[in-house]
Amino acid sequence: MLEKLFTPQSVAIIGASREEGKVGHSVIKNMIEHGFAGKIYPVNPKAADIMGLACYRDVNSLPDGIDLAVIAIPAKFVPSTVEELGRKGIGAAIVISAGFKEAGEEGKDLEKRLFNAAMVSGVRILGPNCLGLINTKHRLDASFAAHFPEDGDIAVLSQSGALCTAILDWAVRNHIGFSKLISIGNKVDIDEEVLIEALGEDDNSKVIVGYLENILHGPHFMRSAERVTKRKPVILIKAGNTTAGARAASSHTGSLAGARMAYECAFRSSGILQASSLEALFDYAQAFSYQPLPRGNRVAVVTNAGGPGIMAADAIENAGLAFAALSEESHENLRSFLPAAANVMNPVDILGDAAAEVYGKALDAVLADDGVDAAVVLLTPQAMVDVRKAAEQISAAAKKFNKPVVASFIGAERVASGIEFLQKNRIPHYPTPERAVESLLMMVDYMKWRERPQRVIRRFAVNTTKVSRVINLCRKRGQMNVGEQESKSILAAYGFTVPQAVMARSADEAVSAAGTIGFPVVMKIVSPDIVHKSDVGGVKVGLAGPSDVSDAYELMMKRIREREPDARLHGVLIQEMVREGREIIIGMTRDPQFGPMLMFGLGGVYVEVLRDVSFQLAPITDEEAYQMLVGTRTYKLLKGVRGEKSVDMQLVAECIQRISQLSVDFPEIEEMDINPLKVSSERARAVAVDARVRIRGNAHE
Ligand code: ADP
Ligand code: MG
Repeated sequence: MLEKLFTPQSVAIIGASREEGKVGHSVIKNMIEHGFAGKIYPVNPKAADIMGLACYRDVNSLPDGIDLAVIAIPAKFVPSTVEELGRKGIGAAIVISAGFKEAGEEGKDLEKRLFNAAMVSGVRILGPNCLGLINTKHRLDASFAAHFPEDGDIAVLSQSGALCTAILDWAVRNHIGFSKLISIGNKVDIDEEVLIEALGEDDNSKVIVGYLENILHGPHFMRSAERVTKRKPVILIKAGNTTAGARAASSHTGSLAGARMAYECAFRSSGILQASSLEALFDYAQAFSYQPLPRGNRVAVVTNAGGPGIMAADAIENAGLAFAALSEESHENLRSFLPAAANVMNPVDILGDAAAEVYGKALDAVLADDGVDAAVVLLTPQAMVDVRKAAEQISAAAKKFNKPVVASFIGAERVASGIEFLQKNRIPHYPTPERAVESLLMMVDYMKWRERPQRVIRRFAVNTTKVSRVINLCRKRGQMNVGEQESKSILAAYGFTVPQAVMARSADEAVSAAGTIGFPVVMKIVSPDIVHKSDVGGVKVGLAGPSDVSDAYELMMKRIREREPDARLHGVLIQEMVREGREIIIGMTRDPQFGPMLMFGLGGVYVEVLRDVSFQLAPITDEEAYQMLVGTRTYKLLKGVRGEKSVDMQLVAECIQRISQLSVDFPEIEEMDINPLKVSSERARAVAVDARVRIRGNAHE
């Protein structure tokens, strides 16, 4: 679909210029000097020829059959030019010109006009406000960048044009090759989703990396990204925050979700690897580009110094990778050529005076071991070692096996020649052992993602009619904060157990309600104006007899009237006291980009203080629900400490999946919490002791 953009046979440059320093000059110069093999047509009404090429007055006077136009003229002329391109049959354009949405109100208007022009004419547009596009294999440099990258298999996308320039500069210096470099600009038409999908199909691109500031059409993007990440790694930096955090939240989940969380969840569940810095982005990119994927997570280390070997071992452990145990055969093998003082166990220490050949032999021995899935090679520039030769040996050994090898030559001046050799020979090199290990971790994570079975969303038999009824009732009353009892009836309709409860409007009614339910009971204030009941003294647990209940009633009413004189008090709920069980929270908040986001964590009244929570976007699979549990410290509590019995994890995971289903079934639900859900280890039982649901107004509001 984007062939005309990526591999045009002929390119018109609209706004081509003779004047050095002008964008229109850089573009034509890049096109010519970087060896574009197709035809180039400069368009400029004021020049007869530019850089030896005959110039055309306008779009109309161009010959027919041109594939791509690069536009570098003032913004105000761009929309009409795109219309002309459409009439001329030129189906793709790169709009380099700035002065659109990024440049105030007038620019926003122009961008709308550009959008319309693209829609009406059918011309596909990259940009505006971008650096352009480079396709290394096609020798196409439709950009005003100062460098042309080496040939490679990393495709780069960037929402920041300036960053593209910086990336290029640095890549050239470090011998990192690119297949394509695409500056996406304001994405009036072609966006990250379209490009990632196209690059997914591109056989010249083995890895896709990108810098994005925002993502359009969240759920749709995730689905298409998931298809691509099953085939090749996609690594992204997401800069800037979403608007999610700006919305005032009335639930625990809403207030804990934070602005970046939805992106993190979206990336995780669509297999996108997230990088936290440019450095990390290209650390990972090199590993994926240069090396085969590991088949497992067992890592071996070869080093000529003890210290760095230990650092690498620590990093392996911290990353949750496995430290490979070498076979007896490998030990023997290593012993046969290493000096007696060397360490033949992982980390294999070949000692400071090891010759270059010993590096090769040791790495060979380690990689040949069936118990090793990947290797980290470390070198410190001790007096005897020929760094460059060692690099040659390492590279030769690595090439013999289909296992990833990463290296860290620690130092600067004295290791430079070795590093350069490694980089040119596709052995990823990192300045520290930690970064080398982290890149391996990314590869292992990705391998696991690829092997993960197709997502299956479990569905439970539920009573949707009952939920609709509650929501409609609340909407009729104009009540967006659904009360505790009604929230619980929603939960009950989705298969949750809720404690028995009776409403009471006086001390006498409370006592008789308690009698019906059976002591001990819990008393809770019922008021549409009070969201967090215990904050105002509106919860009393463990009321053991009738006099406790009537005293508690009087006291609670008196206190709350003093503290919240304006609150409407409807009475109290007398509730069955759920004695056993550990308190957890399950909640949902709706992200404007990505939809329902689920939360799990330690429950109770200190949720916000302890912040032991994890998130995931709905709908969620069984495996993902389980991963949410494992992602918290609460998990260990639930497993049982100091001889306690473990709670039924499957039951908790199922509760999360039920809330996932509820939030997908009812988009009207804006946010909700079950806090606490009391999960008992004695009986396989989870009781929703408190619940809060917030709904949206009518759909047409
Ligand atoms: P809120 O969150 O509005 O302050 P809750 O209903 O969650 O009010 O009650 C606060 C705390 O009281 C809960 O975290 C829980 O520890 C305890 N609690 C509330 N209801 C019950 C109940 N039915 N059984 C046992 N404990 C309860
Ligand atoms: Mg609560």
